[in-house]
This record gives sequence, structure tokens and C-alpha cells, in this order.
Amino acid sequence: MSHDPLKHDGEVKTEMDCTHCSKLFVALVDYSLNGNHSIECPFCGHEHQRVVRGGRITGERWGSTSGDKRDIHKPRNVWKADSLVRMETSSASEFMRQRWIDKLR
Ligand SMILES: [Zn+2]
Repeated sequence: MSHDPLKHDGEVKTEMDCTHCSKLFVALVDYSLNGNHSIECPFCGHEHQRVVRGGRITGERWGSTSGDKRDIHKPRNVWKADSLVRMETSSASEFMRQRWIDKLR
């Protein structure tokens, strides 16, 4: 059985970077909730749209594909990454960061 680093169950602290103000923040995303998630940047208030399916964040952006805003999940908590003292984040973001670093080499 192989562990899928991108798959989660329940609420996981997920590192995000804001495309609007280029700052890092951490959101408590509930991966057990399938569907549209709306995560607001704590720095500039920019809305990040993510779609969760089967415990993974997909590459979809629901904002552009669907006008349906009836069923949107918001994280229970969002932190500014600046104020975090080496907080443990999801293995997914570590995995993604490693891939990103590999790409830069
Ligand atoms: Zn922002």
C-alpha cells in the first residue's frame, strides 16, 4: 500500500500562496468535504477557489467554470504564515514545494 501525499482526510493545515499579494498563509482545509472551497487571503482578502474531491485538491477553479455559489465551504481557520513559528503543515505542501524546488534546479 503506497501512501498518497496529496490525499488527506478531515481538516489539514494547508500552505497556500496568494497570487494577489504574493504572501504565504495557512488554511485549515477540510478535505472530507467534497466540492467548492473558498479560502480568503488573511493579508489582502483575495478569494482563492479550490475544488476538493476524494480528499485531494484538484486543479480546478470553480469560479470560472461554474456560477453556482450555493454550496461553498470555508476553512474554519486561516493564519498568516509570517506569524507562524515553524508550524507543521500538510505533507502535500512539502511534497509540492519539493517538486517546485526540483523544477528550479
Ligand atoms: Zn493576498
